[in-house]
Amino acid sequence: KENKQEDKANATVEAPIITVTQVKVNVSMPEAAKKAEATGADGVGLLRTEHMMLTSGVHPKKYISDGKEDELVKMLVENILKVVDVFYPKPVWYRTLDAPTDEFKTLDGGENEPYEHNPMLGWRGIRRELDEPEILRAEFKAIKKLYEQGYSNIGIMIPLSQSPEELKKAKEIAEEVGIRPHIDVDFGIMVETPAAALMIDDFIDVGLDFISLGTNDLTQYTLAVDRNNELVASNYSEEHPAVLKLIEMVINKCNEAGVNTSICGQAGSKPHIVEKLVEIGISSVSANTDAVADVRRAVARSEQKLILDAARKQK
Ligand code: PEP
Ligand code: MG
Repeated sequence: KENKQEDKANATVEAPIITVTQVKVNVSMPEAAKKAEATGADGVGLLRTEHMMLTSGVHPKKYISDGKEDELVKMLVENILKVVDVFYPKPVWYRTLDAPTDEFKTLDGGENEPYEHNPMLGWRGIRRELDEPEILRAEFKAIKKLYEQGYSNIGIMIPLSQSPEELKKAKEIAEEVGIRPHIDVDFGIMVETPAAALMIDDFIDVGLDFISLGTNDLTQYTLAVDRNNELVASNYSEEHPAVLKLIEMVINKCNEAGVNTSICGQAGSKPHIVEKLVEIGISSVSANTDAVADVRRAVARSEQKLILDAARKQK
């Protein structure tokens, strides 16, 4: 009798939903990789580095100034491995460090972090990493080690890009440590500044495998609304026409150039926004672990609607 009940329960398990648009997952804590993978996600559309650095307790710059670059590389390899191994051979886009000065102050060695009046508009992302290339180099060394161990599923994603020159320089540093961008690893940028969105053609000219829309920042910078300020929370909307205009423009231009597109901001975890993005033509979306199933259903709904519309037009 018990078996029969079990069979009945199993029979109601939903069949996996297949979508053409990939549905990936965001990972901030490597320890949560297994749970993220269990969602059936098609890969990791954003692997954040900040948490790895914060849990190590030591400021990345201190590793370097103490002559312990090897330890920094080892720490990164151990953390990234937890994710790329669980997801292999599905792609994992590793985002290089995006460290705002105010958050890294608490770390051992973080007392030297400069005070900034407005850290969100300050020294973070790729602009900071190009000023401190020793940290970017250590990150690339970690990725190279993993690539050499057979983890060919890693992509490198550059945060807070503002000018194509930054992408060029980041690729040069990757080459210096022995990574061949676009050959060994996919290389892409986060589109998080209006500048990157408006100049997407120029970034494409430098060479991109993919872009990911960082709508948390793209919204704050497009609307001039601090994403962490409750006083202006009602002015913050990822669906503001200006933000959507930028998103649509970037997706269209990337599609024309054969560059993969994705989204990893909170908007990518909101089913009604994801439906719109699929309609525009985004090639993948990346959601938080607890949103993957709903987002997958939203993608399927949107794809079915597109197919039906196309079929009706042909009649
Ligand atoms: C974003 O800005 O949308 C993003 C995903 O990056 P973070 O939230 O880490 O700034
Ligand atoms: Mg961001």
